[in-house]
Amino acid sequence: MRERLVSAGMVDDDASFELKLRPRRLQEFIGQKKVKENLAVAIQAAKSRGEALDHVLLYGPPGLGKTTLATIIANEMGVDYQQTSGPVLQIKGDLTAILTNVRSRQVLFFDEVHRLQPALEELLYSALEDYKLDIIVGQGPSARTHTLEVKPFTFVAATTRAGLLSAPLRSRFGIVLRMEFYTNEELQVIVSRSAEILDVTIDPDGAMEIASRSRGTPRIANRLLRRCRDYAQVRGAGHIDRANAQAALEMLEVDKHGFDEMDRRLLLAIIEKYQGGPVGLNTLAAALAEEADAIEDIYEPFLIQIGFLDRTPRGRIATQLAYDHFGIAAPRRQAGLF
Ligand code: ADP
Repeated sequence: MRERLVSAGMVDDDASFELKLRPRRLQEFIGQKKVKENLAVAIQAAKSRGEALDHVLLYGPPGLGKTTLATIIANEMGVDYQQTSGPVLQIKGDLTAILTNVRSRQVLFFDEVHRLQPALEELLYSALEDYKLDIIVGQGPSARTHTLEVKPFTFVAATTRAGLLSAPLRSRFGIVLRMEFYTNEELQVIVSRSAEILDVTIDPDGAMEIASRSRGTPRIANRLLRRCRDYAQVRGAGHIDRANAQAALEMLEVDKHGFDEMDRRLLLAIIEKYQGGPVGLNTLAAALAEEADAIEDIYEPFLIQIGFLDRTPRGRIATQLAYDHFGIAAPRRQAGLF
């Protein structure tokens, strides 16, 4: 369905490019060594037993390849693939319809599973554990419970926030995998591979320039590559090298850490408005006119990873590295805060 929409030009540009650049087999999937090893063993074992793969939970920041891995699991298992997401399902009937129609051993990919409504989550438990679904028909004294069979299937769930999952749901997953940010070298390989698919030539230095400004995230690397390709076509001879990649990224105001406007605003707000912190998440969100969830899911993980931000029980703190980055002198602090 999605393929059809894409070819009809009905899906936005970004989504159609993502589809094109998505690796289809585990071998093509770059980085995430531990995740890949775990999956390879589990897939091979399930295949040799002729069973559905155990349920899989993938967690980590957006754009690191969770959806891609779910499609790869289906490809490697040689089974059907279906996709939905937490916020899309509103009533029990929606989930019941999906679960009663799953095919034997298929992959059901569930994005943003932490946003599934509690009533629907409970319905899911027995489907995941015993491949049974209890539905109540009628109301009051005449209400009856019907148990429907669900074919054995593999539930692959993705979340940016594993901490928000309830303990009973978490315990239903046999395989729990944490996605890490990618190294610059891994992203360099991803950029070169994507360039080949997009039919643009790029030298290793150009690919590294894009990689190092991609916040450890393949989705961002691919997006920057497309912008650099445009720039190289218009201002150069169509080939991407370090110089024109640098010029293109500077024009986009992506600095050497890959910070965009929002990252800078976030750090500067902590430094300038709250003397470097600690400042609570909600206060920060209000100051930036941004959703607290977006700050926590999208912006903070990378800033914490590279050591520019600290999350403490009393709130967020800008570190010495952040002060150095902006060339601002850090105030004197009580011991232990940096
Ligand atoms: P998520 O579901 O975690 O938000 P996606 O699976 O949609 O992330 O990945 C975003 C894009 O990044 C995909 O289109 C894919 O092309 C690319 N990508 C992600 N991980 C990899 C990888 N390990 N190797 C190559 N490309 C990747």
